[in-house]
Amino acid sequence: MKIGILAIGDELISGMTQDTNSSFMARELSAEGWQISGILIVGDDGQLIEKGLAHLMGISDAIIVTGGLGPTSDDMTTESIAKAFGLTLYTDEAILSRMKEGFRAFGLPWADTNTKQARFPEGAVIIDNPVGTACGFSLERGGVIIAVIPGVPREVHRMLPEGVVPLLRKTFGETGETRRRRTIKSFGLTEAEVAKRLSDLDIGPGIEIGFYPRFPENHIVVTARGGSEKEVDERLGRIEEGIVERLGKYVFGYDDDTMEGIVASILTKRNMTLAVAESCTGGLITDRITNVPGSSAFLERGVVVYSNRAKTELLGVPPEVIETEGAVSETTALLMATGVRDLAKADVGLAVTGIAGPTGGTEGKPVGTVFIALANDTGSFCRELHFRWDRRRNKEMTAQIALELLRRSLVGIDIHG
Ligand code: AMP
Ligand code: MG
Repeated sequence: MKIGILAIGDELISGMTQDTNSSFMARELSAEGWQISGILIVGDDGQLIEKGLAHLMGISDAIIVTGGLGPTSDDMTTESIAKAFGLTLYTDEAILSRMKEGFRAFGLPWADTNTKQARFPEGAVIIDNPVGTACGFSLERGGVIIAVIPGVPREVHRMLPEGVVPLLRKTFGETGETRRRRTIKSFGLTEAEVAKRLSDLDIGPGIEIGFYPRFPENHIVVTARGGSEKEVDERLGRIEEGIVERLGKYVFGYDDDTMEGIVASILTKRNMTLAVAESCTGGLITDRITNVPGSSAFLERGVVVYSNRAKTELLGVPPEVIETEGAVSETTALLMATGVRDLAKADVGLAVTGIAGPTGGTEGKPVGTVFIALANDTGSFCRELHFRWDRRRNKEMTAQIALELLRRSLVGIDIHG
């Protein structure tokens, strides 16, 4: 079964908004075992919508259209599709009154332009929208299913799996194939190094491996196919074992895992507490940690000590040290880590200080120089690093390595290596 995707919106072709719906949908639909015949993006232009549709009709068994279902006149997907197939539009009274009730419940004024979102081509089957006002619809034309949904990504994320995929399954039947996908997440090796380490892997039939660099991580996505669940699980298990064996300590998680999530779960399980002192990352490490639900169980505090005075006043770093060694130095980083750990009475202290750039570098300490220190009950440790990216990436890499050092120290991997 081949599926075409038509993304509609002026903001997409002008480059103001990235077409994330198509990639999301293509991923989800491929995971079902269906092929994508093509992805087409057109602006809010009736003629081009019709042409795009006609093109995809010729190469697809089903077409998913996203975008252009808004209440304003620039959104014209429904009219264009009706015109393309010579259908008239009707107003669905039940949906119209439900929309009006919704507006009342939210205390929003009703404008008659909204009525547009209750209009559908005759013979269309409504696709419910559980998280927004504009419902979608589906049609069948010459054996091709056309499903139309709004462009708001949050709505697409619900309506595709809940409305569209079941419809396609019902029409085209199950694929009879079992598929499973596993993402193995690594950090600390370049993409080339990952590929080299995996070059002798015996992949075998029914397995696909994809490499996905996701700065600053490298993800390996394994897809296993087969007739039965048992067969697919065995294939996936065998290949996963081979990958983990070859990447070793560089593997930190799977699927939806994040570095901060892994660190959080270990600290929580062990009833340990953490205190963070950040200079060049400006709170990024603490932000990532506090994105994990339940982080209050282990995070005692996170302080941003940007100035020299803050490092002294809040963490007790002696002014003489900053004067002689510098705010960006191994000694300062170590004193920040031990200082924040002692003050917080936490099990682990984590600290970073560096020059994110693009200015502020000196000959001895160029832009991108970063010190990351960790203090725990066995002592303290500091790593010096030199980055060459822009300010944002330097900050992101610093935060990532700080979390990775913390993870390694917790799981007992030598952090000196
Ligand atoms: P619409 O359904 O055309 O009213 O789209 C509503 C909003 O969703 C637009 O303003 C965009 O910000 C967003 N949007 C529309 N299409 C896409 C797409 N293909 N990918 C990501 N966002 C989109
Ligand atoms: Mg639009």
